[in-house]
This record gives sequence, C-alpha cells and structure tokens, in this order.
Amino acid sequence: MQSWWQLGEGFGQAGSSLALYQIECAFCGERDNWAIEHRAEKRKPNSRKVLYFDTYKCGNCAGYVMVFWSASESSGGPMGGGLHAYRVLPWPLDIDDGEEYWPATVKRFWKQAHTALSREDFDAATVMSRSALQAVTRSQSAEGNDLYGEIEDLESKGIIPKIIKDWAHEVRLLARPSAHPETDEADVDPNDARDIVQFLDYLLEYVYGLPHRIEEYRSRRAPEQSSDEE
Ligand SMILES: [Zn+2]
Repeated sequence: MQSWWQLGEGFGQAGSSLALYQIECAFCGERDNWAIEHRAEKRKPNSRKVLYFDTYKCGNCAGYVMVFWSASESSGGPMGGGLHAYRVLPWPLDIDDGEEYWPATVKRFWKQAHTALSREDFDAATVMSRSALQAVTRSQSAEGNDLYGEIEDLESKGIIPKIIKDWAHEVRLLARPSAHPETDEADVDPNDARDIVQFLDYLLEYVYGLPHRIEEYRSRRAPEQSSDEE
C-alpha cells in the first residue's frame, strides 16, 4: 500500500461497513462485544472516500481498541457490495501452544500462566505456574508427600540442579497464598508474578528442552559416531 488512502481499495473484507464482529479484544479475548466511544473521519476532497478513526469499548472488560478503517470508494454505490479494510491497535498478543514434546498437562498450564500474565491476572499467573511446576514433577515421577517433597526428590535424583530447586521452591511459596488463601491475602507483586512465569520457561527448557535437543543432536551424529568407534 503506497498511501493510506488506498486502504480498502481492491483488498479487504466484504461489505462497506466495518466487520466489527471479527475484532478481538486485546485484553480479554472477547469478540463482537463493542460499543463505539468516538469516531473521527477524514474525507478525501472531491471524492466519496472516507477514512474512519474509531475508538471502541469492550463490553466485557472495559478496555479500548482504536480501529482505523475505510471502505472502497465505489462501496455503497448503485452496485452495492464493496470492500473495506481495517487496522486495529492494540491487538491480542500471541501466546503459542508450547513445544510439542512437553507433556500435555504441562503445556496446558504453561499456556494458562502466560495468558493470565498477558491479562495481568497475577494471582492466576502464579497459581498456574505452580500447577505447571507440579505437572513437571509428576511427569518426572517425583516422589514425595507434597510439592515440597517432590521438588526435593527431583534434586536428589539429579533431574534438576540446586539452583533450579531453590527457584522451584520460590514458585511454590509465592503461589501458596493464592492457591490456599487466608481471609486477608496481600496482592501478588506483578514483578514477582512475571519472574515466576519466566522461571517456568527456564524450568521447561531445562527439564524438556535440553534433553530433547541433545537427543536430536545425537541422532543426527549417530552415523559418524559409529565409524569413530572402529
Ligand atoms: Zn475486553
């Protein structure tokens, strides 16, 4: 596109009005629950072309998006139909599904921890990190009466080093008030929640990522190694 005046000309969505139902709230993921808050427009001189600058409010979480859009100049004319195109700010941040070699439960909790963080649900982020941690200890057949014991067991078996063990205990401790609340729990510090989720990433890399990569590396080198053994 050479000019913003070309927005909606020859490409875009069907119809001459904004496909609002397609727009997903960047904060809560809700679709098609928008109320217009403000509209400004700029009209091209001697033309039917109009650029719209809209602000919409999400009916679910009260967040806002700005939608810049325009219909093709011929839209709404005697032939009807037409096209329009739009750009939205902000957009939902992509959270991927994790690595295919992680256990399914770990993947699910990991994704929920990141999703909670993106929505600034810090209690949920820490609780889901703790759940993911527990799913990791179970996937490694850790033994113990509780999460504390399972973490200790993983270190004693050499599956995780001491530094990872220490941080795993921090995850456990940070999430405990949210997982088992007293009547008057203080809020989770957002920076703590972000650190804990990042730790989870490191943990998964250590427990699953590195062994997976070593395995791949070895299977790639296997033919060479057998000739070296002679
Ligand atoms: Zn929303």
